[in-house]
Amino acid sequence: MPTYNRADLAFERGEGAWLWTADGRRFLDFGSGIATASLGHAHPHLVQAIAEQAAKVMHTSNLYRIPQAERLAARLVETSFADSVFFCNSGAEANEGMIKAVRKYHAENGHPERNVTLCFEGAFHGRTLATLAATGNEKYLAGFGPAMPGFRHLPFGNMNAVRDAIDGTTAAILVEPIQGEGGVRPASLDFLRALRAACDEFGILLALDEVQTGMGRSGKLWAHQWAGIEPDVMSSAKGIGGGFPLGAILAKEKVAKHLKAGTHGSTYGGNPLACAAGNAVLDVILAPGFLDNVDRVARHLWRGLLGLAERHPAVVEGVQGAGLLVGLKLTPEVTNGEAQNAAVAEGLLTVAAGMNVLRLAPPLIITEAEADEALGLLDRALLRITPSRAKEAAK
Ligand SMILES: *Cc1c(COP(=O)(O)O)cnc(C)c1O
Repeated sequence: MPTYNRADLAFERGEGAWLWTADGRRFLDFGSGIATASLGHAHPHLVQAIAEQAAKVMHTSNLYRIPQAERLAARLVETSFADSVFFCNSGAEANEGMIKAVRKYHAENGHPERNVTLCFEGAFHGRTLATLAATGNEKYLAGFGPAMPGFRHLPFGNMNAVRDAIDGTTAAILVEPIQGEGGVRPASLDFLRALRAACDEFGILLALDEVQTGMGRSGKLWAHQWAGIEPDVMSSAKGIGGGFPLGAILAKEKVAKHLKAGTHGSTYGGNPLACAAGNAVLDVILAPGFLDNVDRVARHLWRGLLGLAERHPAVVEGVQGAGLLVGLKLTPEVTNGEAQNAAVAEGLLTVAAGMNVLRLAPPLIITEAEADEALGLLDRALLRITPSRAKEAAK
């Protein structure tokens, strides 16, 4: 179906942060298939784990125990706020389940009327009917009405609006620590802390969407850790499978305990193959020093990007995000589509995001040398799209 505006590029193979087309052109991948190929392409450990598991057994269903899923869940619990994990196959599905978990929590506590989730303008939570309603973007909702009830949107970062909106129907606050699709807009750490405090004060749940920001992308395993807070429930997907479809809901016991047998489920969710991939990704990301290295390379990249912003004031307004999820906010004179095309012309893959932002989300395994290479390619790409008046002035 014509659902995508695809670039006329097809990749035949990849290695690390690099992708090759069939006709031999090489690209530095700073998009990672939308922040998903967290270990880059053809990572030997991930490839081996998938191949070995596929040769044994791929899928058995949740009618039976799945040791690979039990192990992955135990490791996610050990390294996070959560007591319990549910596996699914995508980000939207994880959010869908998280919304159900939030409603169930209040219903089981005698408050079924508490079923409204507070969301934020600029959010992106997925394309299913409930996550579309949580996203709230008119452009995505158009033609798919009626929108599912139970969501309300507030200005991102405005704590007064949040406190005003909380009433006897409020179930949860759903927020991305950094809005990804919406333009790589970080919530301030103070805003996240204030949301946590308000949830505690009013007995509502803090539900974090870490589909894009989690699994090491921010330089910590979970982006909310920068704020020193814990959610009650959280979704993960994208990077968690390193490119293999996998999603997860992580929850505190007080939420998870209400999702008893028969209340939620998935045929594929957490199958042996997907969880072998998830475990292999965790092996790499939890290895001593890995996240420190992500943080170090990210800081190196940021220094370079801030330098680029200074060199190209007619194109770049600022740099925003965290860790290896970075947005170049472009000036109104250029579009992110133009910037993306200019980068492709130089051999660099990026992803456009909302609010005229060019998003960089390289694999977490990139080196400083690869960051430098990307900076060089970006420098040339930005020069390509510098409005001609600014080019003249710079001469
Ligand atoms: C990508 C994304 C989703 C949706 O994930 P899918 O796997 O495409 O369903 C949800 N939330 C956030 C924050 C995302 O970035």
